[in-house]
Amino acid sequence: MPSNQVLLRSIEQQLDDFVLHSPKNIVADLDSMRIYDQPLVAVAGAEDMYWDRLKQPHIVGPQHLSPTEWLDGARSVISYFLPFTERIRSANRSEGWPATEWLYGRYEGAAFNDVVCSFLVDTVRQAGGRALAPALDGRFAVANFRSNWSERHVAFIAGLGTFSLNRSLITDLGAAGRFASVVTDLALEPTPRPYTEVDEYCTKCGACIRRCPPLAIDKNGKDNAVCFHYLQETQLRYKPRYGCGKCQTAVACEARRPPVSSAKSSIPNSSL
Ligand code: SF4
Ligand code: SF4
Repeated sequence: MPSNQVLLRSIEQQLDDFVLHSPKNIVADLDSMRIYDQPLVAVAGAEDMYWDRLKQPHIVGPQHLSPTEWLDGARSVISYFLPFTERIRSANRSEGWPATEWLYGRYEGAAFNDVVCSFLVDTVRQAGGRALAPALDGRFAVANFRSNWSERHVAFIAGLGTFSLNRSLITDLGAAGRFASVVTDLALEPTPRPYTEVDEYCTKCGACIRRCPPLAIDKNGKDNAVCFHYLQETQLRYKPRYGCGKCQTAVACEARRPPVSSAKSSIPNSSL
């Protein structure tokens, strides 16, 4: 095995171990509920042609920074997906307001994701690389629902999965979970992208359309503003927590890639 693959494997093992054994991945208030299962990890090359494409206005926009703009000399990006545990997902299969478990997964889970991301930065540095997490960097910014570092797009480039009708990213372990990434000057082997279409894993079954309480999703995709306002409503009700995730639970793409045999509708493919 080439040495950079051994290095990646070692980084992956340390990440797995951290996620599975960290006390911060446990919610004591909910009878020691674990938030995340073992992560999926993949690597994108800093020279990938997709970085420039993300700067197009109809994709993310010119504000999206490429790996070398975050870190001079960057050669790779390590992207990971933290899947929510079955307990969180199954609780949220109900209709209407979010399950308590989901609210904790979303809120405490986001805080723990930052801890995981910092751990990955430290792990890469200990392995001899320079490393930076854009989402934790002072330059990170979001405006009009678009950021200058889109974790879902990064994960797509790294080969973790494809986009879906509800604007999630469907991985081999489904869409219910969180993403993050770290830019490094370590030269790691990019992970193959086992897809050719940007929304290849979405069967267009339409189940997420029917699950959405404020009707933010239709056959053309998701209206971010409608979703955002609904999330604000949940925050008024459950402060400091918030969340919904109905479009990611009780659907075929909740925790796996939907079977290709699922009937496709006439909903068209989107483009990246
Ligand atoms: S529920 Fe169906 S249409 Fe919606 S994202 Fe999942 S696979 Fe795609
Ligand atoms: S998170 Fe909730 S409100 Fe937003 S698109 Fe999904 S189901 Fe709709």
